[in-house]
Amino acid sequence: MLKGKTALVTGSTSGIGLGIATSLAAQGANIVLNGFGDVESPKAAIAAMGVKVAYHGADMSKPAEIEDMMKFAAAQFGQVDILVNNAGIQHVAKIENFPVERWDAVIAINLSSAFHATRLALPAMQAANGGKGWGRIINVASVHGLVGSAEKSAYVAAKHGIVGLTKVTALENATTGVTCNAICPGWVLTPLVQKQVDAKAAAGGISNEQATQLLLGEKEPSMQFTTPEELGALAVFFCSSAGNNVRGVAWNMDGGWAAQ
Ligand code: NAD
Repeated sequence: MLKGKTALVTGSTSGIGLGIATSLAAQGANIVLNGFGDVESPKAAIAAMGVKVAYHGADMSKPAEIEDMMKFAAAQFGQVDILVNNAGIQHVAKIENFPVERWDAVIAINLSSAFHATRLALPAMQAANGGKGWGRIINVASVHGLVGSAEKSAYVAAKHGIVGLTKVTALENATTGVTCNAICPGWVLTPLVQKQVDAKAAAGGISNEQATQLLLGEKEPSMQFTTPEELGALAVFFCSSAGNNVRGVAWNMDGGWAAQ
């Protein structure tokens, strides 16, 4: 379905980003990976699916590096047809104790990076398809783009912000073939959430299993994690022709979290 298209997924060396990149590659899209840590195994796994894969290590808190990554992607594959703004970090503390440097980092990586990648990707998307435009921008927000939780001020502010950015991007391109939508997961068991399970286990002197049940029980009525594969399937839907007129939605996949 996506053969010949190029998808750039930020923060795709692990977790949700890697899940979405894998789902898009399964549909034939060439992939530009980004993120820190082990790069070679995700790169090899995607290449084994028979698509082209490249990697750029831009630090998404740095606009100049984002610009370099977008130029690199265009030079490698012609242009970016699908942009998935996924890179994100978390920091948990009460507002009065929240380190200013952590606030700035969360806003830069979880929100401003999406603005920069979007503004740089849009011109080529708008010019595609003989000037009628074709493009898909998918912002990985969170259920925290829809509701709040204590001790997550920067994260909740950034995620509400990216839901707003999604709506404006969708509206400004509403008469073109460029769509923009957000995905709002509840708990997904990735390194980002494992850290929160570990902190709960340590704080309560309880097992990892008990901490996991506690974490899910506080927020997620289904008592189950959403998987990167399920989120990847939603991203594929947004990229399909059935998604042509889905514009500016914030679609939660959260086990009922936001329904409460
Ligand atoms: P993760 O820690 O597994 O992956 C984060 C990715 O972002 C990694 O590839 C990491 O290298 C990359 N990254 C971090 N800082 C970066 C930077 N400065 N520049 C470039 N890359 C950077 O986390 P995840 O859970 O897969 O999170 C992915 C996205 O999904 C985030 O935006 C997160 O807020 C969102 N999300 C996660 C959950 C969850 O429960 N895990 C729920 C809702 C939303």
